[in-house]
Amino acid sequence: MAYQFENLPQLSDQRKTLPRKGLYSKRTRVITDRAWHHSLTKKDLAGSTAAGFARYHVESLGWPGVGYTFVIEPQNVVNTSNGRRARIVYCHDIDRRTYHVGNSNQFALGICVAGDYRTEELDDYTIMSIAELQQALVDDRIGQVDKSHHEFPGYSWKQCCRFDYQNVINITTNISTFPKNEVPSTYMIQEGDTYWSIAHKESAAGVTVDDLRRANPNVDPTQLRVGQVINFNLSEADVKGSKKINGFVEVLSSTLNRRKEPSFTSTVTGQLTRGMIVKVYAKQGQLFHIGSLDWCSANAPYVKYHQAIHYRRLLRVGSPLLRGDDVRYVQGRIKVLGFDPGSIDGIYGNRTRSAVTMYQQSQRIQVDGIVGQQTWGRLFD
Ligand SMILES: [Zn+2]
Repeated sequence: MAYQFENLPQLSDQRKTLPRKGLYSKRTRVITDRAWHHSLTKKDLAGSTAAGFARYHVESLGWPGVGYTFVIEPQNVVNTSNGRRARIVYCHDIDRRTYHVGNSNQFALGICVAGDYRTEELDDYTIMSIAELQQALVDDRIGQVDKSHHEFPGYSWKQCCRFDYQNVINITTNISTFPKNEVPSTYMIQEGDTYWSIAHKESAAGVTVDDLRRANPNVDPTQLRVGQVINFNLSEADVKGSKKINGFVEVLSSTLNRRKEPSFTSTVTGQLTRGMIVKVYAKQGQLFHIGSLDWCSANAPYVKYHQAIHYRRLLRVGSPLLRGDDVRYVQGRIKVLGFDPGSIDGIYGNRTRSAVTMYQQSQRIQVDGIVGQQTWGRLFD
């Protein structure tokens, strides 16, 4: 029987070609767990591939072959009809008990994402390959649960895996292209709107009254009509001499100064705090333009730049409480927008729910305290 995962266009079947010495024995138990690993070697190193790991496992450790059934290789990007993807190497038959989680090998399928995610970040092509492989394995009924290496008995000390596999595999794999992260270029006037209310309502998007005036030289702000479409984008000329970009900045330092101009010596206009997620419009020198919040440092270790926030898991108060980076990003974003989610701790509790509820009310979108497609879109697209 052919498996679904064999149809993934980024799959490379190397079962017959990878270095090996003998054969792993057959599993005596059915696979219940999918075990996620990272390689702890930098993803761009020459040896951070299935073949590299196989050589090491065979020659240095004396194993029959590479210890994983699948290896995802961020350095080998494949063009597929679905878009670019990190290559997935198929290393052993599913029924082989490879070595990766000790006593749990019998019933755990090993999947390794090349890279050292203590310090590196997953790129989009790798995220998509993880999500698609996981979905295919679910469809193939290979395993029932996903676990990180350190969640297996005896491995709680392991720094593996260090990417948040739960969030990655919750990405809907139906999307064939990455979500767009551009600021909408136009805005349709709604009842009661003034430039001030628009700027206020959209303050997270960093649009100011002045921006709106500049972007709409032929519009009289005192004569706005419901249904009228105005320009909403900052034109390149608005931020002279800076490179236009779109993305988000995550504040990593406990506090971060906002500066009036793109210079570290210019007036401090306020502060951002740890965990906040702010929209970025441009970069000039070593500072980011963060719309109406002015400018902030673009330098590590104070901030981390995210080209886009791809998470789209449904977030709600559950039992046990949902945890994850996606919750943290929602908290950090909503805090910048002026709602108090409590501490930015990545736990979706009642305080976060009530902040989300108030945000939804302010946006006149469905008010349910649940972060679904619409709320995700408002916050991060
Ligand atoms: Zn591991």
